[in-house]
Amino acid sequence: MSEAGATDRMQSVRKQMAEACREVDRPPDGVCLIAVSKTFPTEAIAPVIAAGQRHFGENRVQEAQQKWPGLKAQHTDVTLHLLGPLQSNKAKDAVGLFDVIHSVDRRKIASALAREMAEQGRTLELFVQVNTGEEPQKAGVAPLEVPDFLAFCRQECGLEIAGLMCIPPVDEAPAVHFALLRKLADENGDEGRPLALSMGMSADYDVAVQFGATHIRVGSAIFGPRG
Ligand SMILES: *Cc1c(COP(=O)(O)O)cnc(C)c1O
Repeated sequence: MSEAGATDRMQSVRKQMAEACREVDRPPDGVCLIAVSKTFPTEAIAPVIAAGQRHFGENRVQEAQQKWPGLKAQHTDVTLHLLGPLQSNKAKDAVGLFDVIHSVDRRKIASALAREMAEQGRTLELFVQVNTGEEPQKAGVAPLEVPDFLAFCRQECGLEIAGLMCIPPVDEAPAVHFALLRKLADENGDEGRPLALSMGMSADYDVAVQFGATHIRVGSAIFGPRG
């Protein structure tokens, strides 16, 4: 698809997002649109940045390292989100490049991130991934383990956790999973501060907004199908 296509589609996603907000009386600026640029080259990303988009998501540390240092140097107000699973041996690179990580789901990762952030003097915004469908092949903390895992992150690692993230099973209605993530967020805020909600992708971001998403992660609806 053409580069102008991605810019147009980004605007139309913004419109639909604003429409979904209106339906449930939410201010549209309460939802952060993350344009998921995984698999797309810098030439496809640059026009979307030029059109004003400032939040981008990638799945893999290594791919992001090839694409983003240059783009971030040119556009210092871009926020880069890591959405995919993180190995602890990549924590150093991830902390150096990303601003937000949505996939914190193991104690080893939480400890490694805390250590690296202290080492590098950087504070990233962190989301805990929850495996709301309890799928064996999927990353994320089981719903029942969320309170213990958050306590570990907060008390043992001294981390502030900004929110929760989920990827619903492909073959189920996403609303049930969005509702569950919201309930977990409501129950596990820190000193009255509610947790943010990273949920909703190309196929269901409007539903996610209705269930209170604060961050939606939209790839193919902006950049087109991935090869
Ligand atoms: C790829 C990906 C997305 C975007 O998916 P689309 O269906 O293309 O919008 C969102 N979140 C995560 C974690 C992803 O891996």
